[in-house]
Amino acid sequence: RKVIIVGASHGGHESAIELLDKYDDVDVTIYEAGDFISFMSCGMQLYLEGKVTAKDDVRNFAPEDVEAKGGHVYANHEVTAIHPDDKTVTVKDVVSGKESQVEYDKLILSSGVTPKTLPVPNSDLKNIFLMRGRDWATKLNAAKDDPAIKNVVVIGAGYIGIEASEVFAKAGKHVTLMDMIDRPLGTYLNPELTNILEPVFKDHMDLKMNAKITGFKGEDKVSGVETDQGVVPADLVIVSAGVTPNTAWLKGIVDLDQRGWIKTDPYLRTNVKDVYAIGDAILPLSIPSGKPMPIALATTARREAQYLVNHLFEAKPDKAFKGVTGASALSVFDYHFATAGLNQFSAKRNDVPYTTSFYEDSMRPAYIPEKDNPKVYVSLTFNPYNHQILGGAVLSKYDITAQGNVLALAISHKMTLEDLAEQDFFFQPGFDRQWSLLNLAAQHALGLAK
Ligand code: FAD
Repeated sequence: RKVIIVGASHGGHESAIELLDKYDDVDVTIYEAGDFISFMSCGMQLYLEGKVTAKDDVRNFAPEDVEAKGGHVYANHEVTAIHPDDKTVTVKDVVSGKESQVEYDKLILSSGVTPKTLPVPNSDLKNIFLMRGRDWATKLNAAKDDPAIKNVVVIGAGYIGIEASEVFAKAGKHVTLMDMIDRPLGTYLNPELTNILEPVFKDHMDLKMNAKITGFKGEDKVSGVETDQGVVPADLVIVSAGVTPNTAWLKGIVDLDQRGWIKTDPYLRTNVKDVYAIGDAILPLSIPSGKPMPIALATTARREAQYLVNHLFEAKPDKAFKGVTGASALSVFDYHFATAGLNQFSAKRNDVPYTTSFYEDSMRPAYIPEKDNPKVYVSLTFNPYNHQILGGAVLSKYDITAQGNVLALAISHKMTLEDLAEQDFFFQPGFDRQWSLLNLAAQHALGLAK
């Protein structure tokens, strides 16, 4: 049985090792269009801040790791076409230009996404960068250390834009963070939490929210970003404003949605027999919304890969992919947050009835001095009719991000506020209060006194 995997990132890697560990009789080959296997963009901020052993250590795996298990890994090999009738793919060696036809029994697509460039005048000027993959990591690192680069504009205040802004602010650059929406992280966190973070951003950079980018200024290199609120000087621009799925090569064979995401059924099968898709190039099922949604995370790709491999050779899988909550975490200078499930932005966008609640407290009993008793914040998003917890986020200067995983578990199991309010959690004044933080947040959401 021959399995071909397209793309050597999280989805491709997980598929390969799961296949090689689970089955003795499967021939596994990964084709990767890029020249390096397999830079981990999740570690890019740590690399740019000089907190990793070496750039080339920031990877998901080395080819030898998969080859030691009996798999085959080819860098610089792009899969350019699928031929469902004879179950072959065309593979192009991008160095020599040579093409070959390779047979498959099962084909797994984990071709991911590419960051979008902006469709505005002069977007091809030099020093307009993206933030994904090893080549951009190398360029960003050089720019960070370049004294000629003083003004940095980051377009897009989602996770990647926040990581980029923080790197360049810490490197002593003057950073302007822009977004078309009204607040940084506005699609990830409810307003009570972004209200806490906004002054933190403003201590380190300029914020330009509600900004429409109309073009870039410059001759050869970029010198400014033109917006409906004026021109912002820029020696470097980092665009982190959405992604495009790497699926143009599939058009006409594999069904794509209007924006190019690969359509899959609940078993992660495409419309073409024996062709499956996972990772950022598909829209996974969100457990709290009950619908497919963009949840572009390594965690999602790996869970899909594991599910797929477990059911790959069943004529009809006995169960569908269970979906994800999209749990994620990030630091913003001294603050750390974790979030899972829906928030008011994503609930509204997906037509899920919701209400929200915000809880603020100190982490430990009141007799603990302030310096050892940080403020903690919880935002819950829940169904107002049946109190099902749809989403939640925790924020503090202390690292309470593990509570985000507790919320992810509650969301996955469709627990209610009442369940969380009563749940038995530990108490020890070295760590928390008489009732644990999430008990208190749920009790507060139910209108019960503290
Ligand atoms: P991708 O990582 O997009 O990789 C697809 C691969 O397929 C690429 O290497 C590409 O070259 C190759 N390819 C495409 N087309 C072809 C073809 N036709 N033939 C051969 N090869 C092809 N997620 C988290 O969970 N936690 C984090 O902390 C986190 N941090 C992130 C930070 C940054 C800066 C970025 C950019 C992303 C981060 N993510 C994080 C998201 C995570 O990186 C992605 O969700 C994950 O990489 C998706 O994996 P994938 O397998 O779908 O594809």
